[in-house]
Amino acid sequence: MQFILGIISILLAEVVRDIYHIAGHYWQPIKQFHLLHHKAYRRDFSIANMETYKKSQLYNDVPEALCMVGLTAAIAILTQHPGMWLGCVYSFAFLVPAVLRSQGMLLATDLSHKPGDLVEIPALWRVNRTYHWRHHFDETNAYFAGHFTSVDRVLGTSLSLKGKVIAVTGASGALGQGLIEELSRQGAKVIAITTNPAAVFRAGTTALSWELGAEVELLPHLQGVDILVINHGVNVHGDRSSAAVYQSYEVNTFSTLRLTELFLSSITKSNDRATKELWINTSEAEVNPAFSPLYELSKRTLGDLVTLQRLDAPCIIRKLVLGPFKSQLNPYGVMSAPWVARAIIFLAKRDFRDIIVTINPITYLLFPMKELFQSLYFRLFTKNAKISANLMSGNVVDRSTSKVS
Ligand SMILES: [Zn+2]
Ligand SMILES: [Zn+2]
Repeated sequence: MQFILGIISILLAEVVRDIYHIAGHYWQPIKQFHLLHHKAYRRDFSIANMETYKKSQLYNDVPEALCMVGLTAAIAILTQHPGMWLGCVYSFAFLVPAVLRSQGMLLATDLSHKPGDLVEIPALWRVNRTYHWRHHFDETNAYFAGHFTSVDRVLGTSLSLKGKVIAVTGASGALGQGLIEELSRQGAKVIAITTNPAAVFRAGTTALSWELGAEVELLPHLQGVDILVINHGVNVHGDRSSAAVYQSYEVNTFSTLRLTELFLSSITKSNDRATKELWINTSEAEVNPAFSPLYELSKRTLGDLVTLQRLDAPCIIRKLVLGPFKSQLNPYGVMSAPWVARAIIFLAKRDFRDIIVTINPITYLLFPMKELFQSLYFRLFTKNAKISANLMSGNVVDRSTSKVS
């Protein structure tokens, strides 16, 4: 019992840290001190100016840790549970290094600001360097979390879409149009990628035509894209002809795969790992019947291949696992496409990597299990050829740690 209370008090300390940080952005009396923290680093997290850095530790990090110590101590005294003191001890462990850093000592303890290239993708539950880098250099009014990502996930500040260049395929369809509307409302610059040259989009949207099989022609455009949403698809319904089989796999599986590889190949700079994302609409057909066998087969293959690619992905890959919504592909869909689009954005801003939007409760149960076991199976029985080659040659650098040029 006391152990559980101890864990709760640590979580409370972290919530205090995040609230203090948010106050540093919105509450005038401490804003100037928090600004020192933002001025202290260059884009690679090296210290821009030692005097500013020391001041930022003294006037931002030290009071932040003092608040954590004080509030957790107050809660421990008020609740009279010895376990609650753990949060106070935990906070103290941040106060001491912050005081020392303000004197120019123990700089290596500043873990979330270690200088150098970003080598990981933003972590899901704990704030890593790449996660925090986005707060400094992507959008300062988001990504507030300091240690656990929970406060951002509650507030919807785990992903900022403001000013991002977001390209959407299948743009002329019902969901494509819904996504364009919602992404634009969030302040994104949207590129509508469509195979339908007659399609009309809302003002401010850049339209881009492409043809199936000619994905490589999109590469120059993808280089400037922050988030690519692969949303196109085909449903041949009951057709089981040879042509229907090929068409289903070509559109739903292989063209998506080609676009995925092209987009991942455009991730070349250190900060691309932080800002670039790939969202792929794999559909709830991954785990449930869609009453269209070829749609299910091609979408399941796609879903599995995405799971495989996620193992070494140099950026966040989100799956959109959607139930039946009304569209040209499915006139009987029960959900409305604009509502589904809003739900997708709501969940993406809370960093859901598997964005499930459906009315079928079984999907919420089956999909995470399937994804977990499939991912584990792939991890055990496949290997990254690039990593293996490096190991064989004695060059122990892999894609997750190597410097990307
Ligand atoms: Zn800040
Ligand atoms: Zn920082």
